[in-house]
Amino acid sequence: MSTGRFQLLVPRLPPARDFAAYLDEIDQASVYSNFGPLNTRLCAEIARFVEGRATRPAKVHATTTSNGTISIELALRATKLPDRKHILLPSYTFIATGHAVQNVGCEPVFLDIDPDSMTLSMSAVRDWIAANGLPAAIIVVSPFGAPGNIRPWEQLQAETGVPVVFDFAAALTNLAEVGAQPVCISLHATKMVGVGEGGAVLSTDAALVERIQRMTSFGFDTGTRVSAIRGGNYRISEFAAAIGLAALADAERKISVLKSRAKAYRDALSGNDARVQDGFGIDWVAMTMNLVLPDERVDAILAALDAKQIPWRRWYGDGCHLHPVFAGDNPADLPETRRVSRRIVGVPFHERLSDDDIAEICKCIRAA
Ligand SMILES: *Cc1c(COP(=O)(O)O)cnc(C)c1O
Repeated sequence: MSTGRFQLLVPRLPPARDFAAYLDEIDQASVYSNFGPLNTRLCAEIARFVEGRATRPAKVHATTTSNGTISIELALRATKLPDRKHILLPSYTFIATGHAVQNVGCEPVFLDIDPDSMTLSMSAVRDWIAANGLPAAIIVVSPFGAPGNIRPWEQLQAETGVPVVFDFAAALTNLAEVGAQPVCISLHATKMVGVGEGGAVLSTDAALVERIQRMTSFGFDTGTRVSAIRGGNYRISEFAAAIGLAALADAERKISVLKSRAKAYRDALSGNDARVQDGFGIDWVAMTMNLVLPDERVDAILAALDAKQIPWRRWYGDGCHLHPVFAGDNPADLPETRRVSRRIVGVPFHERLSDDDIAEICKCIRAA
C-alpha cells in the first residue's frame, strides 16, 4: 500500500468502543465460538439487512463462514452435480473464485464476460454447454460489488438443472434480490461490512443454508455429535461476530460517506470520457472504485497518475485464465476480458479522501 499522500484503499473496521459492550457479553457468557449468541444474532441481522434493502420481497436465510472463498467452496459442495468435473466461471474476477473451483476438486473453465455488465456472458455459457454438455456448476460474479442480476441465471438453472452459485463477495450492501441459489459474501476487512476474516452464505432456501451451516462445523447434525455430511471447521469466533454486529450497525453511515466521495469523482469527471463504473455512487457503492478509461488514453492516464505518485490498480489483473495455476486447457485469449481489464482501473477511494484529493486526481486524469 502506498505511503504517499494518496492511498488506494483504506480498510476501516468499527473502532473498539463500538463493540466493547459485545466483548463484555462474551466475558459473561464464556462462549467463544460454535454458533454462540453473537454469531446467531449476526446471521439473523445479515438476513434482515439484506431483506430490508432488496427489491424482491423474500425471507432470506444467512449463515456465517470463515471467509468468502470458503463460502464459495461450501456453496459449490452443497449444490454441484457430483458426477461432473467442469465449473464455468468468468475469468474476470478476483483470483479466489478460481481457487474455490479447484479446491472442490473441479476444473475451472474460464469464459468471457459481457463487456457492458462485466459479468459472465450468458451466450458464452450457452455455447459451451451446446459444445460440451452440462457442467457441474456455474459461478456468476458481481464485478467489484455491483448489484448482480440473478434472474437469467434462475431461468438457466430451471432449464438445465445445473446449479448456479453467486460470488457476490463484495456486494452484501448492494444486493437487489436473493433467491434460492446461494449468494456468497466476504466479510474481509476490505469489504463494506468487514470483521477481519469472515464470510457468509445467503439464500431463500432454508434447508440449503442449514446444510451449509452444518458443513462449517464438521457436518454435525444440529445440536448433536453425529456427523452426517462432509464438513470441516469453517466457523467464525464470537469476537469476529461482535465486530460484525458493530460493522452492520455502521453500514448505512459508511455507505453514505462513500457515496459522497464517489459523487465528488463523478462531478470532477463530468463531461470527460474517463468515467465512473455504471451506477457506482448512485445506486450502489463498494470499497474499491473503478474508472472506465477511454481505450486510446489508458496508457497516458496511468503514466500521468504514476508521475504524481497517485496509486492505481487493476483489481482483477488481466483475468484469472492467465495465471500459471490455472494454465491447462483454458483459452489463450478471451477478447472481452482482455479489452475490459485494460480499461478498468481502480483509483484511490476511501472515507477520508478529501474533495481536494479527488479534484487533484481528476485534474491529472483530465489533463492526460
Ligand atoms: C473478496 C473476494 C473474494 C474472497 O473473499 P475472502 O473473504 O477474501 O476469501 C472472492 N471473490 C470476490 C469477487 C471478492 O471480491
